[in-house]
Amino acid sequence: MQRDRSNTLTVVRQAGKSCPDCGEQRPADAFYRRPDGRLSTYCKVHQRQRSKASYRRRRQDPAELVRMREQERVRKRTTRARLSKLDPEREARLRKSRLAAVRRLIAAHSDEYRALLEQERCADRGRSGGGQGVA
Ligand SMILES: [Zn+2]
Repeated sequence: MQRDRSNTLTVVRQAGKSCPDCGEQRPADAFYRRPDGRLSTYCKVHQRQRSKASYRRRRQDPAELVRMREQERVRKRTTRARLSKLDPEREARLRKSRLAAVRRLIAAHSDEYRALLEQERCADRGRSGGGQGVA
């Protein structure tokens, strides 16, 4: 009799496996699937915990933080480019929403806004040198 390897694999997948962090047998759908189709070592809950911990740990290292930020910039730029190709009006729409939100924020906190604006103007006069700014 010929053994069907894919059938064996299906049985294994349905049976699930045990997560080293839980220490108990879990169904296959409690695990993320790797790109190669195999189940991850840890269950979804513990995989997320471990990923979060690893992310925080990596960001503690200044060189790694710089590298991660650059990766994030590249990813955001790529995503933005891809989305505006699919929807050319997207950027304009987002700009309009941002502007509307800023206007509402200013209207809701107008005294605070004026005070901050005045502070910035004073700081700007200080930055432009000697306080004798051109009017
Ligand atoms: Zn687990």
